[in-house]
Amino acid sequence: SNIFFRPIEKINAVIESYPKGIAGFKRYLEIMDTEPEIADAPDAISLKSVRGDIRFEGVTFGYEPNRPILNNVSLSIRAGETVAFVGPSGAGKTTICSLLPRFYEVDHGRITVDGIDIRNIKLHSLRKHIGIVQQDVFLFSGSIRENIAYGDLSATDEQIWEAARRASLDDLIRSLPEGMDTIIGERGVKLSGGQKQRLSIARMFLKNPPILILDEATSALDTETEAQIQKSLSELSVGRTTLVIAHRLTTIQNADRIIVVNKDGIAEQGTHQELIRSGGAYSRLHQLN
Ligand code: ATP
Repeated sequence: SNIFFRPIEKINAVIESYPKGIAGFKRYLEIMDTEPEIADAPDAISLKSVRGDIRFEGVTFGYEPNRPILNNVSLSIRAGETVAFVGPSGAGKTTICSLLPRFYEVDHGRITVDGIDIRNIKLHSLRKHIGIVQQDVFLFSGSIRENIAYGDLSATDEQIWEAARRASLDDLIRSLPEGMDTIIGERGVKLSGGQKQRLSIARMFLKNPPILILDEATSALDTETEAQIQKSLSELSVGRTTLVIAHRLTTIQNADRIIVVNKDGIAEQGTHQELIRSGGAYSRLHQLN
């Protein structure tokens, strides 16, 4: 489901009511910074650099009281590891991943990054180290350059082109008469679904976060585009702790670990080969495909 991105949709509405371009984006960032919903603890810290070790320790969470979605979930992810969450719709894959950037607060237990309880980290600092690549890419009405930089006013032209190149978006940008300054969105050039995803990948190469959350596309792109995007994403995930919310089984076979989630929590975990061999839920899912 899309709950993961509701906080972003909310901000989207705010953006639309502000001046366009970088000036508007500055205002947006100010709003982000002052967003009062989750207050920092008085002694919350900023993280300078993050390795990307993640632990869920006995995490219980529900959107509504007395209706837990996650019940005592424990999970340990090594820095640099790529972990894919699979399981039936509604099992809680998105929910698990949305707790890490603190879109919601856990009811019991704790989540740590490099051993530090995320509630003791300044929200702004925590989210700076987490990149999210999602299907519904959030683009604002502005230039391609601004959309790749995404509010990072210190990004140099060279860095922005490098990010575009790594996401294989540079040829397209060069082919446009206005190049990087091409306005996209309502009154500008319309990008295809695949191009939008490349743009969000370019954004992540620039942001360079040690932790990535990839919400895999559910809607079909054509096979070739799909393969190219998968390639960019796997390059992006190198050296980063990556959590994949998997909607299909085919794309995750190379994950370091696959975690099968069902309504009772984590059903099983292992590599593709291990899970096929053990003949459990994953191997049954796989046979159905
Ligand atoms: P999918 O593969 O369909 O995306 P998922 O495994 O990611 O599913 P979640 O989106 O995490 O599942 O949903 C887990 C459960 O939480 C579902 O029962 C869902 O209805 C419920 N849920 C999700 N968001 C909310 C919300 N904002 N308020 C109340 N319940 C919610």
